[in-house]
Amino acid sequence: MSDTLTNQFPAGVIIPAGGIGSRINHPQPKQFLLLAGLPMLVRTCRAFLELDVIRWLVVAAPIDHYQATIDLLRQHLSPREAERVLFTPGGATRQDSVLAGLKRLPADISLVLVHDAARPLVDGATIRRCLEGAARHGAVIAAIPVQDTLKQASPTGLIEKTVDRTALWQAQTPQAAKRELLELAFAAAGRQQFVGTDEASLLEFASIPVRIVEGSARNLKITRPGDLSVAAALLQEEPIMKIGHGFDAHRLVEGRKLILGGVTIPYALGLDGHSDADVVAHALIDALLGALGAGDIGRHFPDTDPQYRGIDSLLLLAQVQQLAEAQHVLLGNADITIVCQRPRLAPYLDEMQANLARCCRVSPSAINIKATTTEKMGYTGRGEGIAAHAVVLLRSEHGST
Ligand code: MG
Repeated sequence: MSDTLTNQFPAGVIIPAGGIGSRINHPQPKQFLLLAGLPMLVRTCRAFLELDVIRWLVVAAPIDHYQATIDLLRQHLSPREAERVLFTPGGATRQDSVLAGLKRLPADISLVLVHDAARPLVDGATIRRCLEGAARHGAVIAAIPVQDTLKQASPTGLIEKTVDRTALWQAQTPQAAKRELLELAFAAAGRQQFVGTDEASLLEFASIPVRIVEGSARNLKITRPGDLSVAAALLQEEPIMKIGHGFDAHRLVEGRKLILGGVTIPYALGLDGHSDADVVAHALIDALLGALGAGDIGRHFPDTDPQYRGIDSLLLLAQVQQLAEAQHVLLGNADITIVCQRPRLAPYLDEMQANLARCCRVSPSAINIKATTTEKMGYTGRGEGIAAHAVVLLRSEHGST
């Protein structure tokens, strides 16, 4: 979508998440169910929040699960994603929920997308086609051509005729419209007590033309229990890879132990810091947090907090590993460079490697540690301190469903 269109039509999304999902046979609302390790609703919201063109997203949450819905999204979304999410209590029907969402959308939004909470596999390209289509034409829905031959049958199962499918489409969401058109459609439906099955039917009822834009066969709706496995299998086809970088440096002082990668190294000086000042563990922690999009070590373990005074940094590394596991990603590999003039570190690298691998729950071969000097140049070269760099690659957990 061109920037001109985006600037001209600030876009917002409404996710009616009121459905309890009786067909899925589960006491929880179906949007809370886990899909490849993440609640379905979180995946659905993230598909939109990943796009900068989406200014606001309103979740119309079921009244009985209102606070649980807010907590669920706050728990799983990054702060940058969460700050664009608003909530409103949903209504008895989808139409009521969408109307509530429409009222909750800030006034600066002029293009509205409505999307099913139970379509978590919607992709960015489909969303952009809907935005662009609505900006150009007023109102559109994502749809795919009907693939199977259609039969019309009597109540007893006798085929009456084969239906010509050339003009038939399967409606999906997003359904997108300029805000004033959608508001007109809701007003008309309200006046005449018309209840439609989707937003397009309200627009049609108000005689507002609605165009079809290309949807996606993958954008399936989770309706029956088996659909979750199909969606999980589709997600498995897309491996996630995340890269992160970390750097740390600490000053060498008298009266402190020298601890690198969890190994205590005999030396006259040690690294100064609030914790055990293990620069190698700190650089790795920052690389992992970077890959997770979770800020830095200071945010998670502030050096003003007495509970971290003198702490073994491997314990902090293990906590960050748990954070990665919660996001269903694993360390693929790490490459670490220690910048240190003296002491000589070669005899300790294997033990460091084993310690870091144990904390990150990977085999030692996934962790490479190098040591270099700077040929006596700079603060590390003069022996004033030791620094470490780390890069990591995280990958999706294998077989997570
Ligand atoms: Mg540090």
